[in-house]
Amino acid sequence: MQEVGKLYVVATPIGNLEDITLRAITVLKRVHLIAAEDTRQSKKLLNHYGIDTPLYSLHAHNERTHSTKIIEQLKSGHDVAYVTDAGTPLISDPGAYLVRLVRQEGLTIVPIPGPSALITALSASGFSTPHFYFGGFLPSKQSSRKQALVDLKFLTCSLVFYESPHRILDALTDILEVLGNRELVIARELTKKYETIKSGSVAAVFDFLMTSSEQRLGEFVVLVAGNAEEKITDARAIDSMLEIMLPELPIKQAAMLVSKIMGASKNEVYAAALELKKSPKFRENE
Ligand code: SAM
Repeated sequence: MQEVGKLYVVATPIGNLEDITLRAITVLKRVHLIAAEDTRQSKKLLNHYGIDTPLYSLHAHNERTHSTKIIEQLKSGHDVAYVTDAGTPLISDPGAYLVRLVRQEGLTIVPIPGPSALITALSASGFSTPHFYFGGFLPSKQSSRKQALVDLKFLTCSLVFYESPHRILDALTDILEVLGNRELVIARELTKKYETIKSGSVAAVFDFLMTSSEQRLGEFVVLVAGNAEEKITDARAIDSMLEIMLPELPIKQAAMLVSKIMGASKNEVYAAALELKKSPKFRENE
């Protein structure tokens, strides 16, 4: 039986061309074909390492037709690598369609790990949270962007976004308005000549960006501290549960059940239940 090839999903540098793994170089040299988001961009990297593997274009707009060609290559026994312009494919980058198709065809996908702006920025953020939410690019339309932020307002984990230079100020303005003046880090031009990592309150970082238009050039990762007032979420959840139970149960029993479910103090939940009972909404229904 004829051997089939494998698809190597290869992470490439996000700026500094030396940020590539030895394994990635070996794979890029050895495969039969490199499918690339932008062949001209990838050519620079390949030239730097003296790699002369043929390139094949595969980007968001030709992904469907060109992925079929990749499948043909794999089935005829050729290994193929997939790279995007910078960083890890599929992370706010194309490649998902190809990977799914390769899997559907029962062929093997081998990830070759390496740089990603998201992880690079987090590693320099100083945020100690074990959890983070990665939002990719925030919507470009202001109303949708604000709504996206409203939806994340109560998350206690750090929030990480990619942002373009022409929207960075708008994004920070909306972050300030919707999330408040939290701690924020911007990581600009990571691994490049003008790498800048600036932290402070949202307002302070905004002011810093206003000091010079040069500080607003290039590529950005924006990291925002999570909601420190964890209790807000708990308090809301407790109130929602009490609203359901109070019409059905005596106040003591409702408070006892909710405190057990939420792992919250019995006295605090009882106090919240008394407050709710006093609210006009409840009095109307009595
Ligand atoms: N797949 C890439 C990765 O793994 O990071 C991300 C690709 S996405 C199309 C490009 C965005 O990533 C940029 O607009 C910027 O927000 C972020 N980014 C990429 N390189 C960066 C860098 N050197 N410094 C800061 N942000 C960067």
